[in-house]
Amino acid sequence: MSKFSQHNFANQKALVRVDFNVPLDKVTFEIKDDTRIKAAIPTIEKILEDGGSVILMSHMGRPKDGPEAKSSLQNIIKHVSDLLGGKKVLFANECVGDEAVQISKDLQPGEILLLENLRFYKEEEDGDEAFAKKLSQLGDVWVNDAFGTAHRAHASTAVIAKFFSVENRFFGYLMEAEVSSAEKVMHKSEKPFTAIIGGAKVSDKILIIENLLERATDIIIGGGMAYTFMKARGGNIGNSLCEDDRLSNAITLLEKAKAKNVSIHLPEDSVIADKFSADANTKVAASDNIPDGWLGLDIGPKAVSVFSEVIKKSKTILWNGPMGVFEMEKFQNGTKSIAFAVAEATTNGAFSLIGGGDSVAAINQFHLAEKVSYVSTGGGALLEYFEGKELPGIKAVTA
Ligand code: AMP
Repeated sequence: MSKFSQHNFANQKALVRVDFNVPLDKVTFEIKDDTRIKAAIPTIEKILEDGGSVILMSHMGRPKDGPEAKSSLQNIIKHVSDLLGGKKVLFANECVGDEAVQISKDLQPGEILLLENLRFYKEEEDGDEAFAKKLSQLGDVWVNDAFGTAHRAHASTAVIAKFFSVENRFFGYLMEAEVSSAEKVMHKSEKPFTAIIGGAKVSDKILIIENLLERATDIIIGGGMAYTFMKARGGNIGNSLCEDDRLSNAITLLEKAKAKNVSIHLPEDSVIADKFSADANTKVAASDNIPDGWLGLDIGPKAVSVFSEVIKKSKTILWNGPMGVFEMEKFQNGTKSIAFAVAEATTNGAFSLIGGGDSVAAINQFHLAEKVSYVSTGGGALLEYFEGKELPGIKAVTA
């Protein structure tokens, strides 16, 4: 792989895999959150400024049976153009075929072409080699800047690599930043290293916790998943979220942590509610003594205090998943307080990486994105990275 910043793309056609899978309004198809598009702009601009041309390819949504209006990348042409200072963005109604080939061929230095949704072709997700080859023929070099899909071995994210020599394969700026932040936490963490894991389900997070037991000094567990641990330890959790088929997993994790000298911090108390609703009656209770009919929807004040102290003493922080149902005001204090503690630790020199859809939404909701070290654009990809899996989209560029 060559280093993106050191390469001069003059007169080259760069085929850039981006993640423009942005949420659209169901009726108007307007973009609701353009974070992912914005994140790819520096990569596009660098190639154009060098005097190269850019062919953008992305997926959007989960189209099942070929083309559909709500997943067409036509919906985002104007916005991509606006973010590039009004530069014209050409569009091909296909990814492979005569039209795509002709427009790519005619592309002049400084011009941009956006291809239609890759997932309109089932060959994309199948990782079809012939399809990948056809895509590869549109460009001289391949730039992978789609961290959000780096955990997929699809035609455009991984299989395509074999049609470019190693010096013609690049990470874009976004991918470079994502990989270096993730590597820093995974392999070069300064201790104490605290992982904050929250969200609804233990089953989604078992592998990541297991892998983090090899690296972290402290693991904070909050959110709905904490109650499976509480019940596994013999506590009464009322009607709180619980995965009964994961109780033994929870016990095993706690035992492994003890053997490895990793401190697991569970919430001592919770904000409990008499129904899952924004207007529920609430009170604070011990997390292992929740009355029947009540459910824990946020960590309580004692937990906030203990968790915040652990976070503030940390030198490396990884955060995935909210501490409670932060979407409702009555249950957002835990997540908000933890967000502020992460920001404070960062100000005092810690390296903090936030990843996974809901923790990113939370950090944005509390306007703290600028106060942490790095906010990842990858949900599933980041999780799989921290589960210790090799990501096909990374390996394809570097191998
Ligand atoms: P996940 O996608 O697994 O990270 O879960 C995120 C979701 O978990 C968010 O929508 C939260 O509202 C929800 N959540 C967090 N804490 C709780 C809880 N104590 N009970 C129910 N849902 C929760």
